[in-house]
Amino acid sequence: PALHRQRHQFVIDFVLDLGCCECVLLKQLKFHREIELLVGVDIDGVQVKKKMHGLAPLSTDYLQPSYDQLRIELYQGSVTEKDARLRGFDLVTSIELIEHLTLADVELFSEVVFGYLTPEAVIVSTPNSDFNPFLPGLVGFRHRDHKFEWTRAEFKSWAMKVCLQYGYEVELTGVGQAPPGQQERVGFCSQIGVFHRLGGKERYNMFDEDAEDVFSYTLLYSII
Ligand code: SAM
Repeated sequence: PALHRQRHQFVIDFVLDLGCCECVLLKQLKFHREIELLVGVDIDGVQVKKKMHGLAPLSTDYLQPSYDQLRIELYQGSVTEKDARLRGFDLVTSIELIEHLTLADVELFSEVVFGYLTPEAVIVSTPNSDFNPFLPGLVGFRHRDHKFEWTRAEFKSWAMKVCLQYGYEVELTGVGQAPPGQQERVGFCSQIGVFHRLGGKERYNMFDEDAEDVFSYTLLYSII
């Protein structure tokens, strides 16, 4: 393949979605042919099981066979706990998940994701509470299960701390535009941090022989 395609492949062969819920993101990602392994994790096995069979191959997949095989695995488990099978991925996504954790568990999440799983890249999204005045009729948090909603300053401060502690750099962005003229002041509806691990491509920690392998997640589904 062309060099740009090789680079692309190198970057996103293995993708892990944390808090995958009903597998909506995984269903989109499975059409990215460069991905070889797609894994979803959620603490709520019932949610995962609802729609997981939708990840099975479609008849069109058989009509257009690909030489590259995609493996999909779904696990029930908590992002606050380590599991050796999820180490060394290229990309970990955590979309609208951390605000469902207590602040103590966010600390564990940071340690597990950035300190133990050590992926090349991590995408974290969470509500931006600076934007909340633009949400009509909102009283309190956006969802009753949210443990917090961070301002941009709070999110930035968490992200910077993670970068310092675990050797990442971050770019802060978001989705959901504010009304014209307000964007600067309030930011995006949902704030997003795109983290990249510093220090090149070598997957350090991966082959740390002293570290005992931990398997705390339960496999719910696996398909090729
Ligand atoms: N990522 C999906 C999305 O953007 O549509 C779902 C987000 S949903 C608001 C949050 C999900 O995080 C739920 O499916 C919930 O079960 C899951 N979750 C909450 N705490 C978790 C934990 N400690 N470990 C793994 N998943 C967790």
